[in-house]
Amino acid sequence: MKRFEHINAKSVDEAAAILKAGNTSLIAGGTDILGAMRFEILPDYPEILVNLKTIPDLDYIKEEGGILKIGALTRLEDIAKSDLVKSKYTALADAAHHTASPHIREMGTIGGNICQLTRCWYFRLPDNRFDCVRKGGKKCYAMMGENRYHSIFGAVKGCVAVNPSDTAPALVALNAKIKTNKRTIETEQFWDMVKPGSTILEKDEIVTEIQVPTPPKGVISSFIKFAIRKSIDFPIVNCAAMIGKGEARICLNAVHNKPYRCINAEDMIRGKSINESNADSTGAAAIEKAKTLPGDRNKWKIQLARTMVKRAILGCA
Ligand SMILES: Cc1cc2nc3c(=O)[nH]c(=O)nc-3n(C[C@H](O)[C@H](O)[C@H](O)COP(=O)(O)OP(=O)(O)OC[C@H]3O[C@@H](n4cnc5c(N)ncnc54)[C@H](O)[C@@H]3O)c2cc1C
Ligand code: SF4
Repeated sequence: MKRFEHINAKSVDEAAAILKAGNTSLIAGGTDILGAMRFEILPDYPEILVNLKTIPDLDYIKEEGGILKIGALTRLEDIAKSDLVKSKYTALADAAHHTASPHIREMGTIGGNICQLTRCWYFRLPDNRFDCVRKGGKKCYAMMGENRYHSIFGAVKGCVAVNPSDTAPALVALNAKIKTNKRTIETEQFWDMVKPGSTILEKDEIVTEIQVPTPPKGVISSFIKFAIRKSIDFPIVNCAAMIGKGEARICLNAVHNKPYRCINAEDMIRGKSINESNADSTGAAAIEKAKTLPGDRNKWKIQLARTMVKRAILGCA
């Protein structure tokens, strides 16, 4: 690992000021950024890491005025175990619980989880070996190459990598907002293909809080994930849904560059009682616009996504 400077920030303002200067990056739990640095996968190696963990009062879970507020430094394990989150925001508690391993959940934060880098294996190859589109190069190596886990809803700005976060689809399904030191962003607007990152955050912008409106009584949310190795792996496809009282929000992830809201599927199930048959047809509607990449290696993900939507809906019954 190359040398870098490590600065313990005492406030969000101080961290933002350091971020503005030079080649800097934030570190929260460090479970993603340290791997990226160790294997030298980034086109620009950070010279300074700004530690957020030394900032007080960014680790909390509370409900205020009908809104669940979670500090950006809250660890995934605390979200998974919170009785408040489990009881009313079930999809988020389940998503946190199914993220990575117990050790990573004890270190990894919700802020880091939604800001983590893509897992595309060309992108992640040590020593920055593939100068792909997301790194500022001209070619996407996955497009015509090994793309079995890549997007089933097309490319964005020439990149077919998928968003790997488990909490992201739960936050979209629950209609959450993301507060930063500069603004409050609707979750659906938060992610984009921004070289080499995955969010629309500006260079000196820091996530400070996640805000989730309390679902009305009778509205149920659920989360489901398919991964190769259940104990630790990233999602191959995951899905969250929130359904009831005329409300329906369904979000797939790991299928596109950002969480994919299944609008036409939501329209099919909204206001209906849930059963096996309409959950199945709603799953089919969710993947209507899906298409495989050259070589058809990721075709299997389309059927998987359909099943994930069906099971997430049945989880809301
Ligand atoms: C073996 C392994 C398995 C994993 N499995 C999963 C999985 O199944 N599902 C899943 O979703 N993830 C998985 N992860 C990814 C990830 O490490 C964790 O999800 C974790 O939540 C990241 O949080 P962190 O605090 O450690 O982030 P860090 O590594 O500290 O940061 C990650 C990125 O987010 C930025 N960042 C951190 N906090 C903020 C903030 N407040 N504002 C702005 N930017 C910020 C950092 O600059 C960095 O770019 C896995 C990681 C590993 C190593
Ligand atoms: S999918 Fe994106 S990250 Fe992967 S090689 Fe193509 S451009 Fe790079």
